[in-house]
Amino acid sequence: MISIKHLSKTFHNPDGSVITVLKDVNCDIEKGEVISIIGPSGTGKSTLLRALNMLEPPTSGEIWVDSENIMARGYKLDKMRRKMGMVFQNFNLFEHMTVLENITYVPVRLLNKTPQEASAEGMELLKKVGLAQKADVYPESLSGGQKQRVAIARALAMHPEVILFDEPTSALDPTMVGEVLSVIRQLAKDGMTMLIVTHEMRFARDVSTRIFFMNEGIIYEDGTPEQIFEHPKRSATKAFVNRIQKLVYEIDDDSFDYLQIQTGLNQFFIKYNIPEKADVAYTIIKEMLFEQLSDIRPLTLRITHADLSGETALDFMAEGLTESPLPHNDAVQDIRSRVKAIVEEPTTRGFRIKIILN
Ligand code: ADP
Ligand code: MG
Repeated sequence: MISIKHLSKTFHNPDGSVITVLKDVNCDIEKGEVISIIGPSGTGKSTLLRALNMLEPPTSGEIWVDSENIMARGYKLDKMRRKMGMVFQNFNLFEHMTVLENITYVPVRLLNKTPQEASAEGMELLKKVGLAQKADVYPESLSGGQKQRVAIARALAMHPEVILFDEPTSALDPTMVGEVLSVIRQLAKDGMTMLIVTHEMRFARDVSTRIFFMNEGIIYEDGTPEQIFEHPKRSATKAFVNRIQKLVYEIDDDSFDYLQIQTGLNQFFIKYNIPEKADVAYTIIKEMLFEQLSDIRPLTLRITHADLSGETALDFMAEGLTESPLPHNDAVQDIRSRVKAIVEEPTTRGFRIKIILN
C-alpha cells in the first residue's frame, strides 16, 4: 500500500549549517499493519512521518501510495492527504470551533458531505472515542486526553486508509495516557493501518504487527515486536529497547536534603509514567535512609526503571561491606510484604540491597 524508496531529507538552516536527517529510508507497508516507530530523539521519526504526507517535502527518493508516486510532478497532494490522517503530539484542534465542528469542518469542505451527514457521522465517531457528551463544547474545556481523542475522531472522519501518529501521548498527563492508547488499541483491532511514533515500549510491543527502530536517519532494524524486543540483532537496538532510566543520590552524611530527593523522585515517577509507585517508594526510601540504614554512610541511593519490563527498583548501596546491613525486624518485614522482592547481594565494591517494587 505504501512503499518508501531511498528517502532522504536534508535541512538547510538559516545559519548556513546543513543537516541530513533522513539518510536512506526504505520500507513497504501493507494494509492492516500497525507499525510502531521507536528510537532515540532526534533520529528523524517525526521528519519521516511529515515527509510521508509531504508536510515536509523530502529531498530525494520515492513514496508510492497505492501504486502512485506521490512525489512525482503533477500528483495532486489532496488525494494523498485524504488517504493519510495525521494525529499530532499537541492535538492541533481548531480552538474557535466546537468539538463536533472540528470533526465535520473538513469532510463538509473536501468530501462534499452535507452538514447533516457530516454531523451524524461525527456523532458516531465521538461515541466511538467516548466523547458524545462533549460535542458542543469548545476544546479549551477538555483535558489533554479528551482533546487527543477528538483529534483521532477528526482523523477518522476523513475515512483515511492509514493514520500517522506522532507521539500521541507525549504531551499528556500520565493519568490520561491510558484513555488515548485504548482508543488506538481499538482501531488496531478494527484493522486500521497505522504508523505510530511512540516512546511507550510496552504499548508498542502489545499493539504492533511490526516495529521500526530508527537510528541515525535510517530504519536501523525492523521486525516483529518479538524480534525487536526479545531478540534484537543489532547492538544499538538492544541497548535502546533494554534501556534503564536511572536517578542517583549520594547520601554522604545526615545533612542530605530529603526534600530535594522527594522532588527529584516526583519528576522521575511522572516522567516515566509510574505515578502509582511514588507513594510506596517514598515510604520505603524514608524508612531505609532514616531508620533501617541510618548508620550506613556514605550510601548510594539509585532508583531504576526499565521501560520495557516496567520493573522499578530502589537500590541502596554501601561500599566496603561484605554482609547485608539490613536488619531483621518487623519494619523490614513490613516492607517485604509491600514489594515484589528484596534482593541482598554483594557487589564488587560492597553490598547492595535491591528492592523491586510491585
Ligand atoms: P525525532 O522525531 O526522532 O525526535 P525529528 O525528526 O524531530 O526527530 O528531528 C530530527 C533532526 O532534524 C533534529 O536534529 C532536528 O533538530 C532536525 N530538524 C527537524 N525539523 C527541522 C527543520 N524544520 N529545520 C531544521 N532542522 C530540523
Ligand atoms: Mg519527534
